[in-house]
Parts: sequence; structure tokens; C-alpha cells
Amino acid sequence: MRLKGKVAIVTGAGQGIGAATALKFAREGAIVAVCDLNHDAVFGVVSACRDAGVAADGFSIDVSDRDAVDDMVAKVLAKHHRIDVLVNNAGITRDARLQKMTLKQFDDVIDVNLRGVFHVAQAVVDTMIEQRAGVILNASSVVGIYGNYGQTNYAAAKFGVIGFTKTWSRELGPKGIRVNAIAPGFIDTPILSTIPEDVMAKMREQVPLRRLGTPEEIANIYAFLASDEASYINGAVIEASGGMTL
Ligand code: NAP
Repeated sequence: MRLKGKVAIVTGAGQGIGAATALKFAREGAIVAVCDLNHDAVFGVVSACRDAGVAADGFSIDVSDRDAVDDMVAKVLAKHHRIDVLVNNAGITRDARLQKMTLKQFDDVIDVNLRGVFHVAQAVVDTMIEQRAGVILNASSVVGIYGNYGQTNYAAAKFGVIGFTKTWSRELGPKGIRVNAIAPGFIDTPILSTIPEDVMAKMREQVPLRRLGTPEEIANIYAFLASDEASYINGAVIEASGGMTL
């Protein structure tokens, strides 16, 4: 068990990559705080984590609400007295071309995918510094490296997340904290549900492996990066895209 006894917060853990990550962490022995907007989804994942034999708690909160984030972190600390790992995974899309994008679409994505990541990292960092140990893992995307048609807001946020990762790895590395990001390609989760099937078929064709990734394949990378096996990986952006950007 690679994460035995570690206390981890996973945001956006009600479904998709976050849910797979929470469950993988639980199976690796971590105590998991499952955070998501969706109350029912949170408690389904909490129950699956407990079935894996670990303690798990659910927090039905919005990461763009700083007071709610601070409250969640305070509750995790009151119960477990430490925070070893943060997986900053919550993210949304509100796609439109530059000419059509509304300010609301722009703000909604920046609030969750960029400001939300900042909120949770800032809320846990003092604890990690006191511990002189911790791991922060951020969800970027291949879109945060190469951009993408129709995703001005999402690309800005995911490029920004890489900026956070590089900056925090410099600031926090000397204090014993590692910060890394994953840049997934196309992963088969509900976030892709609005994409028409003909576009999905073209997306699969773009990938040398000729398939989408699974949430579990990304969760495996988060588990490795969270573990002591990744002790010399800091400031990295791990692309997991089946080679789609070659
Ligand atoms: P997903 O299936 O849509 O899951 C995201 C989860 O985050 C949902 O349960 C969602 O809750 C929750 N969430 C949304 N806004 C939130 C907020 N403000 N506070 C707390 N929770 C919130 O997405 P996914 O595909 O697993 O993606 C996970 C992360 O990986 C995202 O950051 C995404 O940008 C990134 N990523 C995904 C792909 C991909 O192809 N799937 C590729 C690259 C990067 P609701 O359902 O209630 O909104």
C-alpha cells in the first residue's frame, strides 16, 4: 500500500478522474476527504472508499467558495491533524469561440479551474509547511500546453495551473513539499458528454493508441506522484494522452 496512513483531499471527486483517484488512494491505504459540488455523488464515493477499508469523509462544497474551502480544511485537520496530499482536480468546461464566449462562461471556468485550485492550495499550504512534508497535485490538460479551438477560458486556466505548479514547486520545494501537474489528453469521463459522436471518433483517431484514456489510468499517475516513490519529481507536468500530441 503506497499511501498507507496519508491524509488526502481530492476535489471534484464525485465522478470521473476525481472519483477514480479517491478510490485508488483508498485502495492504497490513504484516508480520503472526498470533495465535490454534488452531494449524492460525494457520499457514493465516500462509501466506496470506506468499503476499501479506510476512513473517508465527504464535503459537498464549491472550490470557488473560499469560506467553504477553509471550513473543509479545518474539519479535516480537526479530525486527522495533518494533510499529506492535495489533488486539485475539480474542473469544468464552458466552451465557445472567442467571438461568442460570454463573460459568464469566461468567469465560471476561471473561478473553478484557476481560482479554485489557488483556494485549496492556499488553504492547505501552512499545514504542509509546518509538517515539512506534503504533495500538491494539480489537474492541467494537454489544452494547457497546446491550446484548443473553442476553449479560451479553459486553456487560460489550464496554462495558469501549469504556472501555479512551476511557481509553487520553486517556493515550496525547499520546505519539503512537492508540486506537480498532470496534463491528460482525452479521458473517458462525463466532462466529454457534450461532444458529438462524430467528433469523438475523430478524437480517437488522433491518438496513436486509438482510444480514450480511462479515469483509472490518470488515477494511477496521481497515486504514484502522491507516493514516496515519486520523491524526486517536483515541478513536473506529466502528459498522459496516449501520444495524441506527437
Ligand atoms: P468530470 O467528470 O466533469 O468531473 C469533475 C467533477 O468536478 C464533477 O463531479 C463536478 O461536479 C466537480 N466540480 C465541478 N465544479 C466544481 C466546484 N466548483 N467545486 C467542487 N467540485 C466541482 O471531469 P473529469 O473529466 O473527471 O476531469 C477532472 C479534471 O481533469 C478536470 O480539472 C478536467 O479539466 C481535467 N481534465 C479532464 C480531461 C478529460 O478528457 N476528461 C482532460 C484533461 C484534463 P458536478 O458534476 O456536480 O459539476
